[in-house]
Amino acid sequence: MKDKYFSSFVFGHSSTPLSESYPLKIFYTDHFVLPLPPEHRFPMQKYALLRQRVAESGLIAPEDMRVPHAATDTEIERAHDPDYLRRVQAGELTPQEIRRIGFPWSPEMVERSRRSAGATIEACRAALQDGFAANLAGGTHHAFRDCGQGFCVFNDSAVAARAIQAEGWVRQIVIIDCDVHQGNGTAAILAGDPTIFTFSIHGAKNFPFHKERSDLDIELDDGTDDATYLTALEHGLSQALAQAQAKLAIYLAGADPFGGDRLGRLALSKNGLAERDRLVFDYCQAAGLPVAITMAGGYAPHIEDIVDIHFQTIRAATERQKQRVEDGR
Ligand SMILES: [Zn+2]
Repeated sequence: MKDKYFSSFVFGHSSTPLSESYPLKIFYTDHFVLPLPPEHRFPMQKYALLRQRVAESGLIAPEDMRVPHAATDTEIERAHDPDYLRRVQAGELTPQEIRRIGFPWSPEMVERSRRSAGATIEACRAALQDGFAANLAGGTHHAFRDCGQGFCVFNDSAVAARAIQAEGWVRQIVIIDCDVHQGNGTAAILAGDPTIFTFSIHGAKNFPFHKERSDLDIELDDGTDDATYLTALEHGLSQALAQAQAKLAIYLAGADPFGGDRLGRLALSKNGLAERDRLVFDYCQAAGLPVAITMAGGYAPHIEDIVDIHFQTIRAATERQKQRVEDGR
């Protein structure tokens, strides 16, 4: 694949469609349906709508839209307690544990959670090869080592970071968590691990009400607007990347800092969120970091708003990829 787009770049096949010249691999799991009761508040349809939007855009070649493997026990156990994994698999979680996750248990829930973690692993591998790649779900950052929480069963960022290390790709990794809620599970699982730097920028007064300690936390007031957010983010990125000395970034591009979000409490516009993506990509590229993107949360009442925000992140990544190849980087 690399040879193919390298040669089309060198020989300037300008008629080659964008998606063939500048591959961006996308991993999706929306067809592994997690059955929810009709009144459930999680907007599960956003994932299928996002994949549809991405497919219709023509930005990604059909062969670059891929179904990931299900994360294996070995992969999951690098970040999770083996007994927790066993009980998730067997449907032996207690009612309290199920309530804390917020999804009813089903074999499909387990399969989907494994696939979503697999998607982030594969997005990391693809990013290391291509520069950028994305999981059209993931960002399940409230999952702890031995329990799930807030719609999160397995912590895909921690699982993927450890998989990439175990596979010998790179050692130093930075997790840039721009979901509006603190990446508490990620912070807890990776606490004391000097090889994976955790940075979370989130609402101070929002869930989770008991915060963990990331390597860098930035807390924002309710109603924070674009300008204030972007200034704080820029400060955080510069500090996080300087300290992390990373060779790979995992970016949680949550749609829930959006002003219209039901669970967000901040006041960012779609343009502000596009600017956020731009800043993250600018800083990562300046540091020479490949970026694996995950979607994380989004709860706007109009589901199209969530899809718009995630799609603009994917579109921005394709533009970066195009630029990278043209610049020969
Ligand atoms: Zn969130």
